[in-house]
Amino acid sequence: MLAGRLSAALARPAAQQPCWPDADRAEAVVGLLHEAEPIVAPEETARLSARLASVARGEAFLLQGGDCAETFAGNTEPHLRANLGLLERMGEVLAEAAGLPVVKIARMAGQFAKPRSSTVDALGLPVYRGDIVNSPECTVAARTPDPHRMLLAYAHAAGAMDLVRKLCAEGIEEPLVALAGAGHPARGERRFGDGGRPARPTEIYVSHEMLLLDYERAVLWADPGGPEPRLSSGLAHFLWIGERTRQPDGAHIAFAELLSNPIGLKLGPSCTPEEVAEYVRRLDPHRTPGRLTLVSRMGHAQVRELLPPIVEKVTASGHEVIWQCDPMHGNTRTSGNGYKTRHFGHVVAELAGFFEVHRRLGTHAGGIHVEVTGDDVTECLGGAAGLTEADLPGRYLTACDPRLNAGQSVELAFAVAKMLR
Ligand code: PEP
Ligand code: MN
Repeated sequence: MLAGRLSAALARPAAQQPCWPDADRAEAVVGLLHEAEPIVAPEETARLSARLASVARGEAFLLQGGDCAETFAGNTEPHLRANLGLLERMGEVLAEAAGLPVVKIARMAGQFAKPRSSTVDALGLPVYRGDIVNSPECTVAARTPDPHRMLLAYAHAAGAMDLVRKLCAEGIEEPLVALAGAGHPARGERRFGDGGRPARPTEIYVSHEMLLLDYERAVLWADPGGPEPRLSSGLAHFLWIGERTRQPDGAHIAFAELLSNPIGLKLGPSCTPEEVAEYVRRLDPHRTPGRLTLVSRMGHAQVRELLPPIVEKVTASGHEVIWQCDPMHGNTRTSGNGYKTRHFGHVVAELAGFFEVHRRLGTHAGGIHVEVTGDDVTECLGGAAGLTEADLPGRYLTACDPRLNAGQSVELAFAVAKMLR
């Protein structure tokens, strides 16, 4: 029954999939992954579902963040530590301000696949779709999709998850963050000097975009619990559907309907309230609080206009979703010197609009979803340190979209803290 529904879901049109040069080899890789151990444990995913139910009820806040695209070369202990430490730090700031527990989900241990706006780049080469598919170098060989990379992605994700578990058990050191003139010196300066409070055990879950279906379909287990039998992904606790793959007739939504994991859904400016009502009906058929996280990414200029009718429609339906704001993807632009970037001020402005809308409508602004790194990069403009376009070339290291660096991220957490109070 589930197997039949799975085949039917996957037979639907799927956007953003690579064209593997050798379909048999891709199928062989899926077969190998099928034998692999799940990366996440079912009881962890169940615990996250319980945590998210409390977010949906307004009793907790959700912080989700990390790299836009993880890379195999960047899957190192220092990088993972830096990103987890940053989430800890941001979570601490938000928890104190909100007076609520903060549920933390990293974009980590599998965020290797990227949707792209065209299939070829300026040179006519197949576009880079993330390390799980191909390699960014500008040669035909590097850009040719290679299914073997799915095995590497699995191995990297499993290794990362082992480290996440170990660090969560030990406690994670927070990054040293200088908040130059950020207007909240008491905490900022203390952190600058001593690296924060002593590490203590913590809970961080992992997530990635449910994009590459040959990977996603390979590691599933039957989950008999819940209101109906479903499949549980062994690849992440939380999966989200991106803005480019939420076609109502498409494979991604149909696949997500079969999963028992908590699901996120990105909602861009073109999304109508009627469409959202249909997504909610399909993805939360049993009205499970927190089963579905609606991630609005409307852009700072449009959030106040586009979000309210969607929130009103869903509220009227009675479904208890999580309202989360991604203030990054609606605010991307190209700098004068040719870098894909975002301005810190626009990120804060979209969040301000998001909190304003929910305050006015009496709904719980449940969380944020951000592209951040604990590494000292120069990818987004602005913030207290005043990053300018001339600074971008210095340490522009992202494999895809621009991330807030550690200082900008902690500054953002303080800005959100003000909105939560
Ligand atoms: C992302 O989260 O990196 C992403 C591609 O987002 P969106 O689908 O919202 O554009
Ligand atoms: Mn991104």
